[in-house]
This record gives sequence, C-alpha cells and structure tokens, in this order.
Amino acid sequence: MFEMSTQDAIKRDKQFLVHGWGNIPVDVVKAKDSKFWDSDGKEYIDMLCQTAGVVGIGHCNPKVVAAVKEQADKSFHILTSFINDARTVFSEKLAAVAPGRMKNNCKMYISSGGSEANETALKMAMISTGKNEVISTYFSYHGGTLALLSLLGQSYSRGGPWPRYPGFQQIPNAYCYRCYFGQKGPDYCNLECAEALRHAIKYGSAGNVAAFIQEPVPGNGGHMVPPKRYFKRIREICDEYNVLYIIDEVQTGVGRSGKWWAAEYFDVEPDILVTSKALGGGMPLAATVVRNGILPEPLINDQWHIFTFGGSPISCAAGCATIDFVNEEKLPDKAARQGERLAKRLNEMMTKYKSIGDVRAMGMFIGVEIVKDKATKEPWFAGAGNIFGLALGKGALYGTNGARGNGNIIKLKPPLILTDAEADKALDILEESIAENEKSL
Ligand code: PMP
Repeated sequence: MFEMSTQDAIKRDKQFLVHGWGNIPVDVVKAKDSKFWDSDGKEYIDMLCQTAGVVGIGHCNPKVVAAVKEQADKSFHILTSFINDARTVFSEKLAAVAPGRMKNNCKMYISSGGSEANETALKMAMISTGKNEVISTYFSYHGGTLALLSLLGQSYSRGGPWPRYPGFQQIPNAYCYRCYFGQKGPDYCNLECAEALRHAIKYGSAGNVAAFIQEPVPGNGGHMVPPKRYFKRIREICDEYNVLYIIDEVQTGVGRSGKWWAAEYFDVEPDILVTSKALGGGMPLAATVVRNGILPEPLINDQWHIFTFGGSPISCAAGCATIDFVNEEKLPDKAARQGERLAKRLNEMMTKYKSIGDVRAMGMFIGVEIVKDKATKEPWFAGAGNIFGLALGKGALYGTNGARGNGNIIKLKPPLILTDAEADKALDILEESIAENEKSL
C-alpha cells in the first residue's frame, strides 16, 4: 500500500514527522508474532514488543486481526455515554481476570493509553477521597502528560522545562542493588524504602494524600524487583493513613509476570489497577479499574471525566480477543517458564562478563544492569546504548532506558509467545554484543 525504498522512507520521514523519543533509521514495514522486518527485508527478533511489551500476544495475532475486522464492519466510534456491546463484553472479560477482591467486583473507565488511564486513576482517587496530594517513587514513569511527568522521580530525566504539579512528591523506590539506605540487600533491611512512604505522609505532606501510585517493577526506570514483603508493608501503610494504593501495571500486566498481574506475583492488592500496553493486543486500549465501594456511586454515571476515544469499540473487540488468547494459551504459565530460561542464561552471562552488574527478572520482564565496574557499580550509560545498537545491527531489538533512570539497563520484554529457538538466538546476539562492547573497557 505504501511502497517506498528505504532511502526514500528515511528522507520523507524527516520532512514532517516529530518522533519525540529518538529516531532509529530503520524502516519497519511488517511485523508478525515475535519478529519484524525492515524495507530491505532484514529480519529482527523483537525482544521488546516494539514498545515495552505492547504486543505481548505477538504481532498481528490472528485472533485480534479477526476481531478488529469484524468490529470494523459494525462501528468504529460510539460516544462514551452510550451502551455498546463490544465495550460491555470487554469490561466483563477484564473484570473476570482482575486481581484479588477486584475480581468481578469493580468498575472501570476504558481509555486509549497508559497516560489517559493514569490521569483517570489520579482523578478517581482525588474525587473519591476529596484529597489531592499524590506520592510516587524515584525511577517511576506513569505517562507523558504534564501532571504525570510531575510524578517522575528524577528531575534530569523529565526532558524539558515542565512545571512541577503542586502536591506531588516522590519517595525512594526499592532499589536493592543500590540501596539508598546503605543496606546490604532485601534479606537484611528493615524496609526503610517502604517506611519512607509513612514519613512522606506524616511529615512531607499537607495531610491531603489521596493516593500512592507505583509500578510494581519500574519499567522505564530500570526493572528493580522488590521483595514480596515490601508490598505487604506498603499496603499496611496505605490502609493506616487512608491513602488509596494505585498499582500501575501498564507494563507488568496481562500475563508478563508469570501471573495475570504483577500484583498477584507479589501477593498485594491495589485499590485502583491501571492497565494498558498489552491489553489491546497492539490496538490502543487502557483501563482504570477500581474496586467496588471506592468510587462513590453517584459518580459512576455523573459528568466528571471523558476522553473522546475512551472505550473504542474496535479496541474493545481487540481487547476481548487478547484476554481470550492469554487465557486459552495459558500465557502467564508460558511467561513464567520462558522467563526462567532467559534469566538462567543471563545469570550465567553475568558470571562471565564484567560489565553485567545485575540481572533482575520477574517472568518475561527482565532488566540487565550494565556497569563499568562490578565493584564500584558505576552505571555504564554509553555501554548500554552501544549494546542496543550492536544488537539491533545483528537482528535483535532490545530496550534501553536511555533517557530514564541511570540509562544503563538493557530491557527484555518480548512477546509471551516467543519460542525457545527465538529466545536462544536473541540471547546469542545479546551475548555477542556485550562481549564486543566490553572490548572498550
Ligand atoms: N505507565 C507506565 C508504567 C508506562 O511504562 C507508560 C509508558 N511507557 C505509561 C504509563 C504511559 O503510557 P502511554 O505512553 O500509553 O500513555
């Protein structure tokens, strides 16, 4: 449909497009399952799902393709105030897999992306509690709007002269490899990072904290995997101070952790669950799910919130197909198994290569920390960037957190349907790239 040569594509792209998040001069023309191809026919293994796990069920999953085609013949857009069959069925399917006490006991607002869903969550928390302060963590990322950028825990990585939203503050996250409190590791500490939430509420707020928002494992910030007992303490503190606990599972949800939700992996219950990325099987879809009893009844159908494309019938149809596929194919179990395989090989690589400081895995959500020196743990920002480029050249797309965190994490979030052969090939490419990069040390 859009035939053009690679050179032409690169030239024409430059003329009118703003990328906003870097520009990789690869013209991607086709994607299927765990692979994609550029206009020269070169094949890549997609260890990132293009963007942080979005195509968790694989590119162009046939079930999603069929659902989108069928719905496209029925309706594209229906005003959010109306009832719509695709929207209704999607809400039933999502409610049925919601974690803990939310299961079939929740309300949800459907939107198109993670930022919209998190903005919805913050507004829900504020309107439900009548309070308006919010606490987040260092190394978090909750979205690109001005309010959500105020939740970021690192000023230098915010990307511009954005103002700081009043009443938003950050606490240290559970970064056990580089503990802010000088502790040796999660087995030896007193959960000082969780206790920081208590201090922030008691001493750092104006007494109006509506919510604490957190990614269970920070996806952009660096894949720090906290111990289970951390979440237990956070939950207790939220309950003690009547602060709603928003868990942002935009990256970690929909089977990636080895469970449907990372909240289940860590045995913790959110008051509000935020999900997007993999939820639509590649279509723009997000949901803010709130346990019954939190959002006051009159607000469920009142006029306080709208995103025009919220609950798009086509996206909802894609979401129905995605949830069915995850359940039918038992993808959480597959993610647990493949995640273990990947982590095993990466841990072996860590003993072999001096630039791998840490490997952190939760199912198929894995971060590899690249350092200049294992003893000093000095982050190797340029090294991680170089590994990314080398691997891409050899035919595997990995993630880096270039402008986020310390920028030295290589991230693995491939489709959950990745085969063993694809996993092994992609890891061979990564190992070669790490070895090549280390020559400059
Ligand atoms: N939350 C998390 C954890 C994310 O990783 C992202 C995007 N990377 C967002 C929210 C925002 O999602 P979107 O870009 O779809 O608005």
